[in-house]
Amino acid sequence: MLNIGCHLSVSKGYVALAGDALYTGSSCFQFFTRNPRGGGAKPIDEGDIAEFHQIAAEHGLNSYLAHAPYTINPCAAKPETLEFARQTMADDLERMEWLPGNYYNFHPGSHVGQGVERGIELIAETLNLTLKPHHRTTVLLETMAGKGSEVGGRFEELREIMDRTELSDKLGVCLDTCHVHDAGYDVVNDLDGVLTEFDRVIGLSRLKCVHLNDSKNPFASHKDRHEVIGGGSLGLEAIARIINHPALRRLPFYLETPNELEGYKREIEMLRGLYRE
Ligand code: FE
Ligand code: FE
Ligand code: ZN
Repeated sequence: MLNIGCHLSVSKGYVALAGDALYTGSSCFQFFTRNPRGGGAKPIDEGDIAEFHQIAAEHGLNSYLAHAPYTINPCAAKPETLEFARQTMADDLERMEWLPGNYYNFHPGSHVGQGVERGIELIAETLNLTLKPHHRTTVLLETMAGKGSEVGGRFEELREIMDRTELSDKLGVCLDTCHVHDAGYDVVNDLDGVLTEFDRVIGLSRLKCVHLNDSKNPFASHKDRHEVIGGGSLGLEAIARIINHPALRRLPFYLETPNELEGYKREIEMLRGLYRE
C-alpha cells in the first residue's frame, strides 16, 4: 500500500490532527513543531497525546514527520541567530520523544555569505551540539533547491554534513521532489540517474522520506515554489513514476502542495489510484 499523507496543523492538538489525517486519507503526515514563522511551542498535553497514540494504532497511522520552523538558520552568521536555531532544534527533539521512532526534518540553512564550506561546518556543529544519544528520532536533512545561499542543493553538501556529525547514525535525508528538480536533478527525464547519483554520493539507505511536490518553476531554476500534483513542471507522469520507483515506493510520501484539506484528500486519492500494488 502506498504510504502517503500531507502536511497538517497540530495547533488544535494531536487528536484533532489525527482526525484531519484520517479525513484526508493519509496514512502518514507531516506537521510543524511550532508556528513555522518561529516562536514558542505549545506545552505537550499528555492526555491528548495518549489518545492520539490510541487512534493512530487503531487506524494504522505511522511515520510522523515533524518539520522544523522555516525561520531557524542552523548555519547563521550572527551568534544569537545561531543559538536560537540550536535551542529550537534541541527543544523540538526533546518534544519528539513523545512520538518515539519518528522523523524530524530541517532545512540545513543559508550560509549568508560565509561560503558553503563554513555553512557545512556550522550545520555539523549545530547537529553535534543538538543530537543526544537518548534521542529516538531520525533527524532528516532536506534536499534544497539551492536558492540564494542555501546549503543542501547538492547531494555532496548533505553528505559532508553527515560525515562531520558524530552521531551520524541518527541522520537521514528527506528528498523533496520540487526542490531537487529546481536544484537541477532531472527527476522527470532521468529518475534512475538521479537515484543512482543519490546512492553514489549519500547512499539510498539514508533516504527515509519523500516530500512529494510539483514545481511552479522550470528545471534548474533554483526557486522553490511548490505546485499542486500534476500542475507544474514535473507533471503527473513523472510523479507517478516517482511513487512507483522500486527505490522509493516503500518510503512515506508527504504532500506539501498548495492545498486545503479537500485538495489534499483529492490528491491522496488520485495518487493511491496511480500506485501499482
Ligand atoms: Fe521543507
Ligand atoms: Fe519540502
Ligand atoms: Zn519547498
